[in-house]
Amino acid sequence: MTKVENCTTCSVSLVEDGSVRFPCPNCGEEIGRCKSCRVLGNTYKCPKCGFVGPWSRFLVWQ
Ligand SMILES: [Zn+2]
Ligand SMILES: [Zn+2]
Repeated sequence: MTKVENCTTCSVSLVEDGSVRFPCPNCGEEIGRCKSCRVLGNTYKCPKCGFVGPWSRFLVWQ
């Protein structure tokens, strides 16, 4: 598995506090998410399986 260095949504580097990496809920591929995308509630899409989130209640912290 390749280490994710950039936000899956906007490709910004995950260097800012509040950036997260987490496994895709569907396939386990690592997904990067930057702070601004989290704040804005932008969706992310898994590059491997195409899963789009967040939508599950247990993912709200992401
Ligand atoms: Zn982003
Ligand atoms: Zn996936």
